Amino acid sequence: MALQRYLLKRSHEAGEKLRPLLFRSFSSIAAPALHPFDYAPNAYNAPTLPSFDYSPKAYKGPLGDEILQKRKKYLGPSMFHFYQKPLNIVEGKMQYLFDENGRRYLDAFAGIVTVSCGHCHPEVVNAIVEQSKLLQHATTIYLHHAIADFAEALASKMPGNLKVVYFVNSGSEANDLAMLMARLYSGNLGMISLRNGYHGGSSGTLGLTALSTWKYSIPEGEIHHVMNPDPYRGVFGSDATSYAKDLQDHIDFGTSGKVAGFIAETIQGVGGAVELAPGYLKLVYDIVRKAGGVCIADEVQSGFGRTGSHYWGFETQGVLPDIVTMAKGIGNGLPLGAVVTTPEIAKVLAEKIQFNTFGGNPVCSAGGLAVLRVLDKEKRQAHCADVGLHLIERLRALQQKHDIIGNVRGRGLMVGVEFVTDKKEKTPAKAETTVLFEKLRELGVLIGKGGLHGNVFRIKPPMCFTKDDADFVVDAMDYAMSKL
Ligand code: PMP
Repeated sequence: MALQRYLLKRSHEAGEKLRPLLFRSFSSIAAPALHPFDYAPNAYNAPTLPSFDYSPKAYKGPLGDEILQKRKKYLGPSMFHFYQKPLNIVEGKMQYLFDENGRRYLDAFAGIVTVSCGHCHPEVVNAIVEQSKLLQHATTIYLHHAIADFAEALASKMPGNLKVVYFVNSGSEANDLAMLMARLYSGNLGMISLRNGYHGGSSGTLGLTALSTWKYSIPEGEIHHVMNPDPYRGVFGSDATSYAKDLQDHIDFGTSGKVAGFIAETIQGVGGAVELAPGYLKLVYDIVRKAGGVCIADEVQSGFGRTGSHYWGFETQGVLPDIVTMAKGIGNGLPLGAVVTTPEIAKVLAEKIQFNTFGGNPVCSAGGLAVLRVLDKEKRQAHCADVGLHLIERLRALQQKHDIIGNVRGRGLMVGVEFVTDKKEKTPAKAETTVLFEKLRELGVLIGKGGLHGNVFRIKPPMCFTKDDADFVVDAMDYAMSKL
């Protein structure tokens, strides 16, 4: 073991080249708590990953450079990757990821919260494998218990009369369907969404996604982007009433008084973990309903207990939506989404044809049901509250030390850290954020980056993320910032 450690330290000094050789030759030696490549390269006083009793399997597949070349040749040029030298991630275990060399990283982003319970959670994997062995089918025209069981379990998590479930394959599909429902139910066309929001990449949801419409100028029906009630950057600060007035103006002057619906993430994800001004949703839900519209809560990122204080993000604002959309964490990585609404709204869709070939297929339903079970069994909501509080407290302390941190925000394990070069002007520290982002990867932390200016760290790990992990992220940020 001592020899192994010595060689590994040397390997970090010698550079990355030795790693595959060492990893492959030492992979048979048990190194339970501290994996050989957990050391931060070239930095002995840098914070190190919390120990984790797992050794990844030896990877014998193609290396990153080869994959990158193939991607460039055969995949769309719009496909982007993180990091100057993109990572080839080959294995995941709970809150950790392993690259082609067996190096472990703390996944503080989980692929934008696709993973709720943890990478390859054994109970979820088992449910998927067992169902795959028995039957995978692409249609709901026959009976199968998995879709019905999953719908029942999901409906039991919803408040009020939100009891009718539709399964789809992604968040974009969920929001497309929600928008269709809103238009059919209300008989109106106009949709309202928030600036800085993200609701999908399909041609229908791109219009709702105000973040992307800066880049796409393709008309997507009648869609109005209203002022974002962002307490940090918004012109009215935390004054929900003034932002609600802006929405009212859009209805009065832009839609001739009638709308189909309003959609908002209850905490904006891609936009940089932005919590809406307190009380905002209550005010605008009233306004929208008076104009004949329905209220849609996009819980693709904020649902399933991630906020800690509540199971659903909309509950943090004390509102009851008419339609709720979800995806990502619902399947712990499976392509799965859902729309939940009231029987009254669902009735309108029953008059039309609504069909989704893979929506609610047995394998995804079995996996989704296992996710709900695991989140309850492992008390992940309470865990998110506890660890999230610790993380936010530590980040706020870090903010006192480093002027570049303009804002720390969020709830539970959905946290944003915004970097600015001037605290008063709130000038986005774009270049610095990119440097920190790369530096954290070197230290072993994979974090998210977002916000309109790309100057926000988004910390959204799998929900099994611990206080030690939180400490490591903060210590790594502290270390990286001190080197800026
Ligand atoms: N809504 C929100 C809040 C999202 O963050 C996303 C994805 N980033 C979507 C919808 C779209 O989900 P998908 O990429 O699965 O279509």
